[in-house]
This record gives sequence, C-alpha cells and structure tokens, in this order.
Amino acid sequence: GSTIGILGGGQLGRMLAMSAAQLGFRCHIYAPETDSVAADVSAHFTNASWHDRDALTAFAASCDAVTYEFENVPVDPLAAIPTDLLVPGTRALEIAQDRVSEKRFIEEHGGRPAPFALVDQDDELPAAVERVGTPGILKTRRDGYDGKGQWRIDSAGDAQGIRVPLSGCVYERMVQFECEFSVILVRGRDGAVRFWDSTRNVHEGGILVRSELPAPGIVGEQVAEARKLAGKVAEALGYVGVLTSEFFATNDGPVFNEMAPRVHNSGHWTMEGAVTGQFENHIRAVAGLPLGDTASVSDTITMLNLIGPPAMQLRSHLADPANHLHLYGKAEARDGRKLGHITRVG
Ligand code: ATP
Ligand code: MG
Ligand code: MG
Repeated sequence: GSTIGILGGGQLGRMLAMSAAQLGFRCHIYAPETDSVAADVSAHFTNASWHDRDALTAFAASCDAVTYEFENVPVDPLAAIPTDLLVPGTRALEIAQDRVSEKRFIEEHGGRPAPFALVDQDDELPAAVERVGTPGILKTRRDGYDGKGQWRIDSAGDAQGIRVPLSGCVYERMVQFECEFSVILVRGRDGAVRFWDSTRNVHEGGILVRSELPAPGIVGEQVAEARKLAGKVAEALGYVGVLTSEFFATNDGPVFNEMAPRVHNSGHWTMEGAVTGQFENHIRAVAGLPLGDTASVSDTITMLNLIGPPAMQLRSHLADPANHLHLYGKAEARDGRKLGHITRVG
C-alpha cells in the first residue's frame, strides 16, 4: 500500500492518520517533539528538527505524498521534499505563516481584513495605534495560535511598555462582530471544490471553545461572499486539500480574520456531523481520490473543546450516550491545552 507523510505531530496529524488508516494508507509522521500524539497511531515516526534537510529527504523518500497539519513549518528546508509530493504546496504556507502577507494576499483577492498597520519595532507602535485607532489588538506576525502572542490595546497608553519581537507585529483594529464563522473547503487534485456548512464559532480568551449549527441568520447571509473569497484563494494557490478561512460576521459584511492551510478545529464537528469529515476529505484530496460529500447530516450540531486541565475524568463524558468523545492522548493536561472534543449531532 502507499504511505502518506504528515509534517507535524499534534492532534490534527493524529486524526488525519486515523482517516488515512481507514482508507488503507500507512502514515509516516515527521515532528520535532517526542511526545507526538500522531505518532501513537502511525506506522512510522521520524523525530527530527524542521531544519534537518537530510532527515526531511529521507522522510520524503519513504512517502508517496506528504502533507502538513501545522502551518508554521519553516519553508526553506522543505525544498528537500520533491515539490510534486508536497500537498498543499509551500506557497500556501508562506502566505499563511505571516499575518501581513496573508492580509495583503486577501486584499489582492478582493477580501477585507480588519484595518491594520505594520509594527516592525517598539517605536512604531504609537503611530500605528494612532492611525488604525482603538480598541485594537497587537499580534505577532508569526507563530501565534490559540490567541497567544496577542496584546489588547484599549487606549494609546496601553501601548507603552510592550516589547515588539524581532519578527515584528501587526496592529489591527478590534472588529465589532455579530459572530465568528469559518469557511472550510476541500479542493481536489482535479480542481473540484466542496464546502462544509459554516458553524458559529465561539472563542473565549482567543481560544475556540465551541462550534455550533445552526449558525445565526447573519452567517447564512454572508457565507456566499465569504465562500467566493475562500474559493478564489484556493484557486489562486492551486491548492489541494482542506483550507480554512476565519471570518467575522459584521453589520457591513464578512471581515476576513485569518486562514489556515490545513484541517481546522472549527471543522471537527464534520467527523460525525457531515457525510464526509474534513480529515477523510483531506486525505482523499492528497491521495488524488474522489472527494466525499460534505453535506451536514443534521441541522443541529455542537462541537465542544475539552481544554486542560480537565475538570473531571474525560471519559465520564460518555455517561451521556449522545456524546461522541475524541481524546487526543495527551499525557500532560496543561492549562489551555486542547485535550479532546465532544460532538453532539441532532
Ligand atoms: P488560531 O488558534 O485560530 O490560529 P490565533 O492565535 O491565530 O488563533 P486569531 O484568530 O488572530 O488568533 O484571534 C483569536 C480570536 O481573537 C479570534 O477568533 C477572535 O475571537 C479574537 N480576535 C482576533 N482578532 C480580532 C479582531 N481584529 N477583532 C475582534 N476580535 C478579534
Ligand atoms: Mg491563527
Ligand atoms: Mg484564529
């Protein structure tokens, strides 16, 4: 059988590997951390640095296709992987790794991010805050996730004392939104595109806590425009696989927040809530197989994240027979860590 390589060893890689196994593929995980929860369910595991080109070359030689579950993989060393093997390609990574290039790319394709200004060093912050206005959020250009690397700025005074990291920041205006939603699409090797329904995504402290269907009416009104943008982006990148774009639904239409060139937490509900889930369709796309139907199986679906440290034995959620429980096998239940999720359909 053939082998699919996955760059990154977190829960997204784990769930991708489980879908790949279902379709008869073997998986080979490449990750720099030894406690990879994806390796637990995979045939092979390479534990090496993102910068080790020899290790990447050897890894690619053992795979028939390579994909990634983590968008902050350093791009330059990926030249060690033959370009026809790596799906989606490095262009999507380059853009999505840097909030500034991402926002510019979106503007070029007719989308609208929140008003923003570049902040390369500390002394540029006051002018950026002045120009864009308050309240706003200062975000690191690179490496942020789950709301990490962000500073809320309510008034000009809040900007004092913030140390801007060397890789720079972007200051963006706080968007007044009715709710948040994401557009999750899958694009096949033949260019066919399918969209899952858009849930309302609820965040607390910058971390996703819940996705729910039905989403409020405003999402229904704005999803067509958001899909048009997401589809254009996928097309422009020659993208293959699952692509996620996050939006704010505002009274002036959808405002683009950020994108992830991968399967996404706000799509976990699709595992039981859609005819074909995001993990399976990503593997199908990467392997050049026909895509599965993305239709929802119910109008009412809720996905709840289980965020550490656990308040109770996680398996006690099974006491409710309606719960589908997914645990990621993480040994340490650190604060704010995603340990699993629950999906309820209907
Ligand atoms: P992820 O884990 O989704 O990659 P991240 O660290 O990249 O998260 P963002 O998506 O930029 O963070 O922000 C996290 C959340 O913070 C958003 O989903 C939203 O709730 C809030 N937020 C971020 N930027 C803005 C903004 N400009 N206006 C209003 N809310 C915002
Ligand atoms: Mg992000
Ligand atoms: Mg986000």
